[in-house]
Amino acid sequence: MGIAVSPQIHPQVADFIDKPRKMLINGAWVNSISGKTFPTYNPATGEVLAQVAEGDREDIEQAVKAARKAFDQGPWRRLTASERGRMIWKLADLLEEHIEEFAYLESLDNGKPLTIARAADVPLAVDLFRYMAGWATKIEGNTIPISVPYTPGAKYLAYTLREPVGVAGQIIPWNFPLLMAAWKLGPALASGCTVVLKPAEQTPLSALRLGELITEAGFPEGVVNIVPGYGETAGAALAAHPNVDKIAFTGSTEVGRLIVHAAAGNLKKVSLELGGKSPNVVFKDADLDSAIPGAASAIFFNHGQCCCAGSRLYIEKPIFDRVVEGIADHAKKIKVGSGLDPETSMGPLVSEEQLSRVCGYLEAGFSEGATAVTGGHKKGDKGYFVEPTVLVNTREDMKVVQEEIFGPVVAAMPFDDPEGILPRANDSDYGLAAAVWTRDISKAHRMAEHLHAGTVWINCYNIFDAALPFGGYKQSGWGREMGHDALNLYTQTKAICTKIA
Ligand code: ADP
Repeated sequence: MGIAVSPQIHPQVADFIDKPRKMLINGAWVNSISGKTFPTYNPATGEVLAQVAEGDREDIEQAVKAARKAFDQGPWRRLTASERGRMIWKLADLLEEHIEEFAYLESLDNGKPLTIARAADVPLAVDLFRYMAGWATKIEGNTIPISVPYTPGAKYLAYTLREPVGVAGQIIPWNFPLLMAAWKLGPALASGCTVVLKPAEQTPLSALRLGELITEAGFPEGVVNIVPGYGETAGAALAAHPNVDKIAFTGSTEVGRLIVHAAAGNLKKVSLELGGKSPNVVFKDADLDSAIPGAASAIFFNHGQCCCAGSRLYIEKPIFDRVVEGIADHAKKIKVGSGLDPETSMGPLVSEEQLSRVCGYLEAGFSEGATAVTGGHKKGDKGYFVEPTVLVNTREDMKVVQEEIFGPVVAAMPFDDPEGILPRANDSDYGLAAAVWTRDISKAHRMAEHLHAGTVWINCYNIFDAALPFGGYKQSGWGREMGHDALNLYTQTKAICTKIA
């Protein structure tokens, strides 16, 4: 297509985006049935990056048919657990061989700095696949002593099997496109499910390239199907499909509710990883040399486009000015620019829609009386850049404190009473993550016990690991991804009881 991207672009990536990308159904790369394509944009320039086959209801139909067949009749179910694990491991190896290429692709499509994609997104995805590869041979049931009061004298051998749930529909967002694909595919494949994956319409490219590696790793046809397309069409069709046994969704709480409604038709199993408005609490006894950069990166990492971003920053009053000033200094030093520039520490937001959403929140905050210590505006007139922003003079009833902004905007609020901070921190419909900064370990663990969140970080933030479960309390979701918890999303228990005497 000859799009205008930097001349330094990785040659394989240039090649990959040069042709319209197809979808993966039943082991073959195919056009959409309608023949339609949709554009994905370079958020640093607003220009079209690539054209992608636009999946819709009919394509989902074909993909589900392939996944169903692969699960019910294909060779996949006959593979040993070890063979399944080795295939996932091979996928991790292939991905690792292509780290540079995936980092470029991710940076171009999502906007994030190449340096971050190279250091975090791709290696975390590799690690996730390796971790899940190991689980394939360790999914076990139990033997259970049963007593049965109404059959005196009888003896039974009772045991459980953990079986794959079946065909999993997986719908992922645009903030960590490759990593979210890995979080979803890894446990599903380790468990023996088959998959129809729908990447976000803003960032479909890395999942499609991953599809090529999945084929190369030797997964049988139909085990993984990848259908790019829009949420209201392809996504909705997948969530509602009667032959899909389980739907796994990561995205907004609003769409999470739609997924639950759509899943009700055949009562498919549902897991959801949704929004957040995470409290980050800095006590006056914290080590400020780590708390200040930690709180800055809690909100500015990935341009604030993290569901667990530390967007409500509570600071004990005596250190309020110092911490705000420190974070503002960090914000001012952030080099905002194209993700491909090695100097860039913050790229553009993912889309024009996201830029106007974040700017809309900033305007709402200012009109309600908030003030910006730094930032507060769109940056430049090309691409979707916004300034890293620190807001003060906010109140709990303001939109900027209540709602998820999903941008580099933190609301800093002072507190007097160390005991009274818990109810304020917990005063949210969300419950994805929280953090506490203090040198007092008793206080830290007391807080951790009482914070209503699926993850609590103490003296750190944004620490992720394939072995550490992640997911939400309250309206931040259902179920846990990563860790061995994730296998529960893709397996179900069968109880088997034999009379032996
Ligand atoms: P955001 O608002 O940040 O773009 P969304 O929750 O809208 O996040 O999107 C996350 C994922 O959900 C994307 O893959 C998107 O296409 C998909 N999606 C959006 N709307 C629906 C829907 N009605 N049904 C199923 N999937 C949807």
